[in-house]
Amino acid sequence: MMTQILVLDVAGRPAKWISPNDAAIYYANRKVAWDLGDETLTLRGGHDRNGEQSLLTVKPVIAIAGRAMLGSVRQELPLGDQNHMLFKRDRHMCAYCGGVFAPKDLSRDHVLASSRGGPNTFANCVTACKKCNGEKGDKLVEQFRPLLYVPYTPCRNEHFILQGRNILADQMAYLSLKLPQHSRLRS
Ligand SMILES: [Zn+2]
Repeated sequence: MMTQILVLDVAGRPAKWISPNDAAIYYANRKVAWDLGDETLTLRGGHDRNGEQSLLTVKPVIAIAGRAMLGSVRQELPLGDQNHMLFKRDRHMCAYCGGVFAPKDLSRDHVLASSRGGPNTFANCVTACKKCNGEKGDKLVEQFRPLLYVPYTPCRNEHFILQGRNILADQMAYLSLKLPQHSRLRS
């Protein structure tokens, strides 16, 4: 799977994941205020007049100078429709029976059912195996079974851990620095 580069604003807040090629553009335009990480990536650039190919080094975490990232940082971070982040937050554990399942056997359960106006948010959604989700239907939690864990809204750093694929050690170290006590992603 392709490596992703973690982009921060100049204050160090995670802004987005991008491809190494897109990161190279920031370097080329001298927009990288600072970068960090030991796992560098070397990209091949164009050929110069003498036929020499330029090489560009991209680090796994880059902070972009100026105001460019402010818009991304101000954005709310929604749960979205992909279950990947939800399952990862809940460590693939069904909130009703406690079983740990493969993604294909899991589903998104709205604690307060959508049919009753329950929102599609981190705070109202848990991971449930398909069997439990089917049995629960649109019952209220109190008419079904107590939740084995409480759903919560990830902080910004945690959200980026949940969203990222194939996260490099340097990126994980950076994002893990400021995780709250309650985070289930703390190891
Ligand atoms: Zn279950």
